[in-house]
Amino acid sequence: MRFLIISDIHANWDALDAVLNRAEGKYDIVLNCGDLVGYGPEPNRVVDWCRATNAAVVRGNHDKAAVGLADLEWFNPVAKAAAIWTSEILTEQNRMYLAALPVGPLAVQDFSLVHGSPVDEDEYLVEPSDVGGLIPDHTLSFFGHTHLQGGFYLHRTGVHSLAAESVFVDETAAYLLNPGSVGQPRDHDPRAAFAIYDSELQRVDFDRAEYDPALTARKIVEAGLPEVLGLRLFRGA
Ligand code: ZN
Repeated sequence: MRFLIISDIHANWDALDAVLNRAEGKYDIVLNCGDLVGYGPEPNRVVDWCRATNAAVVRGNHDKAAVGLADLEWFNPVAKAAAIWTSEILTEQNRMYLAALPVGPLAVQDFSLVHGSPVDEDEYLVEPSDVGGLIPDHTLSFFGHTHLQGGFYLHRTGVHSLAAESVFVDETAAYLLNPGSVGQPRDHDPRAAFAIYDSELQRVDFDRAEYDPALTARKIVEAGLPEVLGLRLFRGA
């Protein structure tokens, strides 16, 4: 089975569309590590698509915020403004769908999906030291939340960072892999990020899809969202 692994779409339809074009024919099933909405201008279009096509989805902190399940005081002013805008524009069906999304870890075959970390959906795994002490349930877990493509492997020699290159999953280690963010990358590469996992080959390939952030930035302004949310898409940061 080949899985398209995506995370942190953040209501950016243009970036998602580019990922789907680039990944076309390379996957059987779509899995999603959360943050479908927040920041971006097309939450309903994105959630409609997720509802129709995603086989498994875990909730992200912005999904919770948009449906009143998270305290907005933890959000910076821009994220808070976007969360309020999103909550007002969501259709009732999409609101109910987001409110019902499960908390990770969510098991899929012999691997799992989480938003933040296997023990805390809101925790950021950025450095190997953030991962030290974690004992994931599965050899392979996919996570999101940091918007940084790549991840870590946990071995008897310690925790090591992995660059966003092809990874062969073997049983001697545990892997925490982040497909990167579709709709708001923060690793200084503005292209939409994703990963493909082939469970027969036990192989994960990271990839990026180019799109035009100017299109999304214009929609952000037209929606009345903070302009900075469009500007950061050009920097990928
Ligand atoms: Zn996010």
